[in-house]
Amino acid sequence: MRKKIVAGNWKMNKTLSEAQQLASEVVNMVKDEVNSDVQVVLCPPFISLYAVGKLIESQSNISLGAQNCYHKASGAFTGEVSVDMLKSVGASYVIIGHSERRQYFNETNAQLAEKVNLLLAAQLQPIFCCGESLEQREKGIHFDFVRQQLTESLFHLDTSQIQKIVIAYEPIWAIGTGKTATSAQAQEMHAMLRKHLAGKYGEQMADNISILYGGSANPGNARELFACPDVDGGLIGGASLKSRDFTDIIKSF
Ligand code: 13P
Repeated sequence: MRKKIVAGNWKMNKTLSEAQQLASEVVNMVKDEVNSDVQVVLCPPFISLYAVGKLIESQSNISLGAQNCYHKASGAFTGEVSVDMLKSVGASYVIIGHSERRQYFNETNAQLAEKVNLLLAAQLQPIFCCGESLEQREKGIHFDFVRQQLTESLFHLDTSQIQKIVIAYEPIWAIGTGKTATSAQAQEMHAMLRKHLAGKYGEQMADNISILYGGSANPGNARELFACPDVDGGLIGGASLKSRDFTDIIKSF
């Protein structure tokens, strides 16, 4: 049985005290209201990781995640943050390959393969983002494009490694736009991704990999998205910045 996961990607929002406030609110609401088997992951900016980690420590269904890591282990890379550093502050998940990083920081599938290797070696779980642009969808090349993202960054892994990966499908045209994919569009892509994984690793393995949806998910559409058989949760941006909305999304399972 694959895990249900709802992760909040806070992106470049919240100062330290604001992050502590938001994390405390989420902890209290989840404690009081959520009794499902959903794994919640909070992904604050780097500077708040340690403090948020301390606040969620007692809550076994809430984990700490980072939004990125560097693709080299250590050394003279001014301003970057390594996998071991993230592990040392308590992160257990790391988002990699977000479309904003691919777009604004020119991250490549090959670099992401290096990040995946470093994360798995440190026993951290990558949340690997993929997704097409509107132009690619309109041209009808969206399946090929997303398949290639997986192939180039993940398919060097062996069977024991691939099962540690969480995949997040985030169509770029749905991120921060208020324009969510329909549940049919999400299901179609998720099923295709699972089939792609099954082709390489076998059906049983593919069945155990969680595939999250991201892109304008909110309390109003989460229930329908999460009801899709191949949608195993969400990677939430804007709506994760409000504890009420985020908790309502978690409760939509
Ligand atoms: P929004 O939920 O704000 O559209 O962002 C989605 C996202 O990019 C999560 O990583």
